[in-house]
Order: sequence, then structure tokens, then C-alpha cells
Amino acid sequence: MPFSDFHGNSDVVRRLREMLARGRFPQAVILSGPAGCGKYTLALMLAKAMNCLAGCKSDGLPDFCGKCSNCIRVAQAEDLATRCSEALEAREALRETDRKETRIFVQTHPDLLIIPPDPPQMMIKVDQVRRVVETIYFRPAEAKERIFVFTDSPFMKEAANSLLKILEEPPEFATIFLLAENPGELLPTIRSRSMTVSLAALSTFQIESYVARHRPDWDARQRALVARLSQGAVGRSRTFDLAGYTAARAQALTILSSAGGADHTELFKLSETFRAGPEGREKTEALLRTLYALLQDLMFINSGTPELVRNSDIEAELKKLAESSDFAWIARAADGLAEVERGLRRNLLRSLSLDAFALALELDRHRLSQVEHHT
Ligand SMILES: [Zn+2]
Repeated sequence: MPFSDFHGNSDVVRRLREMLARGRFPQAVILSGPAGCGKYTLALMLAKAMNCLAGCKSDGLPDFCGKCSNCIRVAQAEDLATRCSEALEAREALRETDRKETRIFVQTHPDLLIIPPDPPQMMIKVDQVRRVVETIYFRPAEAKERIFVFTDSPFMKEAANSLLKILEEPPEFATIFLLAENPGELLPTIRSRSMTVSLAALSTFQIESYVARHRPDWDARQRALVARLSQGAVGRSRTFDLAGYTAARAQALTILSSAGGADHTELFKLSETFRAGPEGREKTEALLRTLYALLQDLMFINSGTPELVRNSDIEAELKKLAESSDFAWIARAADGLAEVERGLRRNLLRSLSLDAFALALELDRHRLSQVEHHT
């Protein structure tokens, strides 16, 4: 996978490679951009290019082979979610006293350390930065450059201060990547000691062409849908759970349509399946997200901008639904959803709050139609 496989932001990528070519790559880089735009992928590609043993070039700029021992071991860190859950599992298996002192890291190469936010708080903790301090001043063992990748920007205060100390005087053979959806979360003093490189979200068209290459099992209509739902996140599009989404959407549509009618046995049957357990919670959250997306689509149709509709494959169905829902109804439905979400956070019975939501919508519609009758 050379740099030509990186999707979007080609100007930014070229600029970074030019800095590599001139031997003037900054020692601390903040890669900022929306979720899924490729920050982590790009950081690992740069790590490979810095350390590739084959010394590859393309277009006259540094590239990497993907086959040498350095490239291969860096690539083993690519599946970040899996590596993190492996590290977490290993921690869970420890004795309680050891578990408390163990932080999550991903390391597939002796000179590359990946530092993800540490569960359950999902923040970068001081012990993680301490590990960086302990190792950063050693010359790389098998690579040319020692590389540290912080995969997200929420730092505990003490951790941020320790990082700042490193940034004041980093060794010349080390490079630190700070990945951030929102670089404003980082201390201003950290930002001023790093170079910020911003990646933009990809266009729907760019994502569609990417998906066409990587998911030949999807037809054109499915590819268009996934591209719209990925919202600029190319990383998310490839592994998008289309079957899961379609199932959640069918349920969301049932809720929205039955909210208008008298019969909501369908709904009660549905909410029965959302009782307890983490799986139920995940399902409920997926359903809520889908409900939001559908309400937003209804809003787009009602405001005369149907080209913004994300669930483009069921536009006819949505238009029919839009006929019986005005702005006020959609706004109240969104409020109702927010209420359900708050309830979820307070761990109320999931089914209870969802039923209440649907009933509220129904009453609303009922009231609306009465008003219409009177006028
Ligand atoms: Zn290589």
C-alpha cells in the first residue's frame, strides 16, 4: 500500500513527503481532521516511509515498499481497534493490583509506540506519557526514526504537562504524531510546539469511488448510500455494516410511520427486543442514530433540498412520510429522541422510554390533525 493508496487530501500528503525528502520533517506533528479522514493511516504511512529499508521513491518523493521487515511490522498496527481490544483483554487477564497500574499501548515494532486513550475514561494518562519519556531518548534500535503516535487528543492534565516537557526538547531521531479531531482540545503550548496539518473530510464522490474499488460486493445504489452515510470518513465506509444499518432503518421507519397511525402493536413488539444487556444497548443506540438520520432527511425534503437526503435509496418512501410531517412535528420528534437518549444515559428501561417517545409522537400527530379539522 504505497502513498498512492491514500484517499483524498493529496496536496497535504505531497507536502509532508516533500518535507521528508528535504530531511526537514517536524518533530511533532498534529494531524487534525474529522473522524475517518485517514489521520491514523497517514501517520503509519509516514512511519513506513521514514523507516523503509528499501528506500522506495515515487514521483521523485519518498515512498515505502510495504514488504521489508520495518514496513511489515508497522503495518501490523493498522487495525487499531483490534490491537486495542487485544491489549485491553490482556489487561483484564491480569491480577487486580497489576491491572490498575497497566496502561494500554499498541506496539508491533520496537521503535513505534502507539498510544490510544486509556479505557474506561478514554483519556491519555500520565503513565502513558511517562512511557514515552522513558523510551524517547534511546536511539532507534531497528529503524531510523523512533515514532510515537497519540491516536486521540483528550489528555489528562498531568499527561498534557508531561508531553509538553518532551516537546520542549525532543531528540532529533524521534517524531511524535498527535491525531486530533479537534486540535483545540490540546494545550495551546502543545500546539505552538508542533506543526498542525489539517486533513479535510472527503467528498461523497471521492468516497464512492473508493468504495467501488474496495467493496465490489455492493451495487451502485448501496455504494451511494454508504458514501452518504459515511459523512466524509473514508475509513468508515469500507467496513460499513450495511446489513446492520438496513435492519435498524427498517425498525426506525416502523416507529416513525406507526407514530401516525392508531396501531402500535408493531412498535411494542419492536421495543420488547430492546431490553437489557450491552447488546441491547448497542442496538438501541444504532436505532436512535438512524431515527435522527431519518428525521434529518425528512427535514431536507420539507425544506426543498432533497439532494441532501442521505438515505437516497428510499427517497420515495421518505417523501410519502414527509407529506404527513411538518417542521414542528419533526422538531418535536427530535426533542423526544433527545429525551430518550437522556433516559438511556440514566439507564432507564430502554423499552419504556422508546414507547413513551412513540406515544408522544402519536399524540402530537393526532393533535395536529385535529387542528387541521377545525380550520
Ligand atoms: Zn519497506
